[in-house]
Amino acid sequence: MNAPATEVAALEVLRRVFGHADFRGAQREILVHVAGGGDALVLMPTGGGKSLCYQLPALLRPGTAVVVSPLIALMQDQVAALRQLGVRAAFLNSSQGASESSSTERAFSHGELDLLYVAPERLLTPRMLELLARAQIALFAIDEAHCVSQWGHDFRPEYLQLSMLHERFAEVPRIALTATADPQTREEILARLALGRARVFISSFDRPNIRYTIVEKRDARGQLLNFIREEHPGEAGIVYCLSRRKVETISAWLAAEGVRSLPYHAGMDSAMRAAHQARFQNEEGAVMVATIAFGMGIDKPDVRFVAHLDLPRSIEAYYQETGRAGRDGAPADAWMVYGLGDAVQQRRLIDTSEGDEAFRRIAAAKLDALLGLCETAGCRRVRLLEYFGETAAACGNCDTCRAPPATWDATEAARMALSAIYRTGQRFGAVHLIDVLRGRDTERVRRWGHQSLSVFGIGAGLDEAAWRGVFRQLVALGLARPDHGRHGALQLAESSRPVLKGEQRVALRHAARRHDARQRGRPGFTQASLTGAAGDLLLRLKAWRAEQARAQALPAYVIFHDSTLAAIAAAAPRDLDALAGLPGIGARKLERYGEELLRIVGEAAG
Ligand code: ADP
Ligand code: ZN
Repeated sequence: MNAPATEVAALEVLRRVFGHADFRGAQREILVHVAGGGDALVLMPTGGGKSLCYQLPALLRPGTAVVVSPLIALMQDQVAALRQLGVRAAFLNSSQGASESSSTERAFSHGELDLLYVAPERLLTPRMLELLARAQIALFAIDEAHCVSQWGHDFRPEYLQLSMLHERFAEVPRIALTATADPQTREEILARLALGRARVFISSFDRPNIRYTIVEKRDARGQLLNFIREEHPGEAGIVYCLSRRKVETISAWLAAEGVRSLPYHAGMDSAMRAAHQARFQNEEGAVMVATIAFGMGIDKPDVRFVAHLDLPRSIEAYYQETGRAGRDGAPADAWMVYGLGDAVQQRRLIDTSEGDEAFRRIAAAKLDALLGLCETAGCRRVRLLEYFGETAAACGNCDTCRAPPATWDATEAARMALSAIYRTGQRFGAVHLIDVLRGRDTERVRRWGHQSLSVFGIGAGLDEAAWRGVFRQLVALGLARPDHGRHGALQLAESSRPVLKGEQRVALRHAARRHDARQRGRPGFTQASLTGAAGDLLLRLKAWRAEQARAQALPAYVIFHDSTLAAIAAAAPRDLDALAGLPGIGARKLERYGEELLRIVGEAAG
């Protein structure tokens, strides 16, 4: 087939089998290239739609596509989802019994499979290589290709040997895929997998469906609960905390408040961890409260929010963690509370770390970039993408775009704050410094005689919240720094001097307004945005899906994604044709579930 013919055939399969209206981003280009026999390296963000780039060519080319995938759970879900679409898919891994795997092997050698998923260590066994040699192979797909990088955190030694695919099966096209963006990893993948002739497809790393929000920390728990109740009632999410203890307390507290929450951290025994992960993956609307130990292997497409109660270490970490939200492309939130204490804590962690000078310098620079993101008055997404070397226009879908924070000339206030730090001997934290500046008569002020200082009461014109904002931003900007020895105490920094002398002007954000416009202009449908009859129908559809998932022992999203149910609820189709036109409804699912769905729509309409 030539390229235009391939494209026509691909679009037909996309609509009939997958139920999608059109390709997304670079998918068309990539799969025409691979279906035509070319090698490819695909770099796409999580949720970008990588799987289709090999699943569709697998259906267009003769023979079986062999997919190398490192995570058994993900492999099983992918295969289950493909089977729901009527695609002949199977896997071989260590979770299977002998009879199951030999029947899969038989189907494979008889050419009865469109896709075969294999763990890398399995692929390299003599038995498997012999099977491969006799079969007709449509292509090799190497998923999570960054596992070949020795410097990354997901290194898998077996991946290094995958270069032999090129030696043994030189004529079979290979496509390697990853969501890891940096150029160094990219070069390693090309070199180690012998992909020298591959075309490299780099997508934007933007995740337009994720709304970024970073709010000032006041009462973190209460803010979190409000956020969950108002924006994501009954929906799945992840709440990241820094410590194991905090994970336990926040999870228990959320549960007491009626949120279906589960804790997850490395201190729990592995059976319990696995059980919680499975419940999170399979149940509707579970909230996982976790340390960063919960990460690799989360492939749940309908995580509707990722909340941070503590500051991550860097923008890379923040982006990776928030990237677990909204893989299905439907609206999702990345929400973080952040305050002075967080900035102080992270700076201290770096200053007191074991690493050498160079390590600390890099860690400090990474933290600065993240704090810059927290304090920016401009678009968060622009900042994020800039950090990864992309330029973008203001997005309209982050908190600062939706309610642009005003900045004010804080030169005088900054001078007062720094003077207060200096005059009190650089040994007090923000709470006391604010009392001094506002001229409050407290026990501590009297004990230290601070009411007689020249700075006492000079800041009475600003309220406490405004002063908290000033101190937080001074630390974030590096204009003041925490004392390593004394918990919470603030000191002057080298860069404080020009500000103190009045040589440098300081512009700061106003303390954020308590209520910003919610839901305004959010693309797509969410549980919260569908009201009245549509909201009621959505709940019925979800209940039906939960039943189906239980009966078939599959995760709910394998039956239908949230976005498909939301589209059905919004359109309330009355016949199969109308239903077929909705996203995520392919021929097989229409045949299998169509009548049932129409019945539910009819019932809801009364
Ligand atoms: P990745 O592996 O890149 O994280 P997936 O391949 O799992 O992403 O795809 C993410 C989601 O996007 C899936 O739910 C998939 O069904 C959906 N998707 C992929 N391509 C399209 C498309 N062309 N149209 C609509 N939805 C798509
Ligand atoms: Zn924005």
